[in-house]
Amino acid sequence: MKKRWILCSIFLFLFSIIKAPSLSQAAVYRISGEDRYETANLLAEQFQWTDNAVVVSGSSYADALAAGPYAANIGGTIFLAQENRDLTEVLEKYKVKNVIIIGGDKAVPQSIEDRFKENFEVFRIAGKDRYETSKLVNEQTESSPITVGLATGRDFPDALSAGVFLARQGHGLHLVDGQRDYTLPEGFEGVYTFGGTASMIRSRGTRIEGRNRYETAANIAAASGDYNAVVVASGENFPDALAVTPFAANIKAPIVLTGKGSLSPEGKAAIEKAENVYIIGGTNAVSQRVEDEILGKAPAEPEPPAEPKPPVPEKPVPVTKNGITTIDGIIIANKKYSLPSSYNPGLSQNVKDYFNRMQRDGAAQGHRISIGSGFRSYSYQKSLYESYVRRYGRAYADRISAKPGHSEHQTGLAIDIKGTSYYLNQNFASTKAGIWLAENAHRYGFILRYPKGKEKVTGYIFEPWHFRYVGTNLAPKIYKSGKTVEEYYGL
Ligand SMILES: [Zn+2]
Repeated sequence: MKKRWILCSIFLFLFSIIKAPSLSQAAVYRISGEDRYETANLLAEQFQWTDNAVVVSGSSYADALAAGPYAANIGGTIFLAQENRDLTEVLEKYKVKNVIIIGGDKAVPQSIEDRFKENFEVFRIAGKDRYETSKLVNEQTESSPITVGLATGRDFPDALSAGVFLARQGHGLHLVDGQRDYTLPEGFEGVYTFGGTASMIRSRGTRIEGRNRYETAANIAAASGDYNAVVVASGENFPDALAVTPFAANIKAPIVLTGKGSLSPEGKAAIEKAENVYIIGGTNAVSQRVEDEILGKAPAEPEPPAEPKPPVPEKPVPVTKNGITTIDGIIIANKKYSLPSSYNPGLSQNVKDYFNRMQRDGAAQGHRISIGSGFRSYSYQKSLYESYVRRYGRAYADRISAKPGHSEHQTGLAIDIKGTSYYLNQNFASTKAGIWLAENAHRYGFILRYPKGKEKVTGYIFEPWHFRYVGTNLAPKIYKSGKTVEEYYGL
């Protein structure tokens, strides 16, 4: 039994699409969603509301193309279905009452139909293949004979540009295998044939053709009579334009097909007659270059890739306040900067916490480490330094020990770490624990403060045991830089 769909009035709302200023006379808009499904939804948005939604597969073109003139003739919009995408919310937004699914359940799964049935009147039109489906779609009309235009179902471009042309004249689009002779179903009358003899060996009614898809589309546009808008769609890829026919029919716009690279001369001529140009799909479908061509801009020279500029961080400077010098938020005690004798913070809780984590993780990998020396007060450092001077002489003492006030241990942020052997001995560096520490301490906020080969910078011999806590944010940066604190900050 045939169903009759009430034609509803449609309001066009064009506020949601992007308008570009044009150098030529035409205003250029691009309608483009995240993907083909969203682009279809955006096209539907151009209708304020619609009783009828025509739902087709988003993954092939045949059903959508046959659906185009049909949807336009019943005042419906086309939505694209996808297995795990629920269209219910979208359809409710547009106040849809009736859902017409076109295609079998391979194209639009039964599960989608079942979901629609909870909210809408649902009707499915499905033949055993694209040709029978297009026949059944066309049989929905009340007109007799059923007037149709014919295009091949083997490819999409001719059928796409034909759809809107037929819709505006109230004809259906009938897909056939154009490379074979075909008979029309009973009650059908072929009024147009689209494409040349290569794609449609047999014609009925008036044949509209060109040397290629672009010229065919332009000739269909020319046969459309006057228009002041055109729709530009890809002639190479179908997805973005699957839902375009009702939209184009409503603004009485013929379809101009374009390749990705540039417009065909025929396409360009067709666009020149229009005041409004609607590009369908993103720049993957219709390139920016084509848009620029439409805008009348000279094709842009490809810009040379910009040299990546490393971000220039504000260079931290040392600040001394109450005798304490900090840079980038960390306290500095070295050969140059000292601490007041009264500075007596004890070992920092952060140092304890992060050392404990490091100790635990090290133990899990078989490395036993502990703190050999932590916080040292000014007075303790004084006696320590003096004992070194007595033992080794001042010159050597200064290489291995800090003058009072200059020791990092007085910050409460430095520790000497011992393993099970070689405490305060450079051989610690080649123990498994020493190697593990050197490679991992930065992950716990510690840096090896007096590395090998840096005595000229730090003033101290290589101390594989002396680690300084600078925090888990800064330590990896300094570690990766391969620099000492003095080099890192230019102290
Ligand atoms: Zn130390």
